[in-house]
Amino acid sequence: MGNALVGRLLYSLSKLGNVQLALRAQASDIQHDERGVHGLTLRQDKTSRSIKVNQGVILASGGFNRDPEQRARLLPGIEMDWCPGAPGHTGQAQQLARGLGAKLAEGSLSPAFWAPVSLRRRADGSQAVFPHFMLDRAKPGMITVNARGARFVNESTSYHLFGLAMQEANRSTPSIPAFLICDAAALRQYGIGMVRPGGKNLEPYLADGYLSAGNTLAELAGKLGMDPATLEDSVARNNRFAASGVDSDFHRGETAYQQNMGDPSRGQPNPNIGPLAEAPYYAVRLYPGDIGAATGLQTDAQARVLGLDGQPIAGLYAVGNDMHSIMGGVYTAPGITIGPALVFASIAATHASQRHTRAPTRVTVTQ
Ligand SMILES: Cc1cc2nc3c(=O)[nH]c(=O)nc-3n(C[C@H](O)[C@H](O)[C@H](O)COP(=O)(O)OP(=O)(O)OC[C@H]3O[C@@H](n4cnc5c(N)ncnc54)[C@H](O)[C@@H]3O)c2cc1C
Repeated sequence: MGNALVGRLLYSLSKLGNVQLALRAQASDIQHDERGVHGLTLRQDKTSRSIKVNQGVILASGGFNRDPEQRARLLPGIEMDWCPGAPGHTGQAQQLARGLGAKLAEGSLSPAFWAPVSLRRRADGSQAVFPHFMLDRAKPGMITVNARGARFVNESTSYHLFGLAMQEANRSTPSIPAFLICDAAALRQYGIGMVRPGGKNLEPYLADGYLSAGNTLAELAGKLGMDPATLEDSVARNNRFAASGVDSDFHRGETAYQQNMGDPSRGQPNPNIGPLAEAPYYAVRLYPGDIGAATGLQTDAQARVLGLDGQPIAGLYAVGNDMHSIMGGVYTAPGITIGPALVFASIAATHASQRHTRAPTRVTVTQ
């Protein structure tokens, strides 16, 4: 899941020989005058260091998601515990930028990118957050229902649209949490959330309530507090869609994107729809999790941070999730965050290295 890639990037960086990495370090202040940014304070353990900035500071601190104030404003009702992003996304670097007059952008269709997530407490008390990207919910033999037991979403859509659909549906019928339901065959084949494929060793997941099970759909519905008849109807209707290959309710499996996340090897007419027919039946609770910020600091095409007057703050750049997403809060495909992050980091570093206001040449990257 990326550790090896990051290790390799780190190794390549070490070979350059002229980059200093400061680990467990926090950018705690940015100094600025009429000519632009000229200093950075770095707190590391109990010491503080002042770094002279000759050319630029590039913010890549991961966005606002764990900043309680911005979160309450931009993501009301979405609990911080549902966010699978890194714990360091405190928004502190953005606060420093705003202290220099930087502007948080507005107008995205959504302030965050979303995925349905499930939650489980680890033995040490910490929260594990599992994003249901593509391994289970889009597969045949799996449906998602609201608290009544009724389907409300195309389960094979993108994780971003799925997360948005949960929030939209929840305005009229309780859909947070929603319930990802599967039968024994689907669980064996694909696993469900943190439960691996194979269908073995389910006891710990059942014991702590991560996984619910019933020998009949009615029994499962009873455990989830939903109307058994509604869940039975939803499953019967899904099973008819599996036979015909057509989901006339939510159009599941109609696009190449969705089919790519299905499973043609089951031999169903639609690779995303399969019957739920083999007991026992299982369920996992889903919550809308913000996987990353779409709203961030307003920048220009050089990744320069703009002030409230629309002018660049000289020497200050923002990339990654600190930068307002060029996607406008729309999810087109995987990679729409890391792709622009890499491109604008390169643009920002190139631009900063050509900034000749202060000598000698030096770029300081904080991440
Ligand atoms: C589960 C999951 C899966 C994802 N999958 C994909 C994918 O497949 N493709 C894709 O494009 N995107 C994906 N994303 C999104 C992607 O991971 C992020 O968009 C990307 O990591 C953001 O990069 P960044 O450099 O802005 O921030 P990060 O990678 O989060 O790094 C920011 C770092 O800055 C540190 N920091 C914060 N404040 C300070 C400070 N004041 N001083 C110093 N350091 C600070 C943080 O602790 C953190 O380590 C995924 C996200 C999640 C949660």
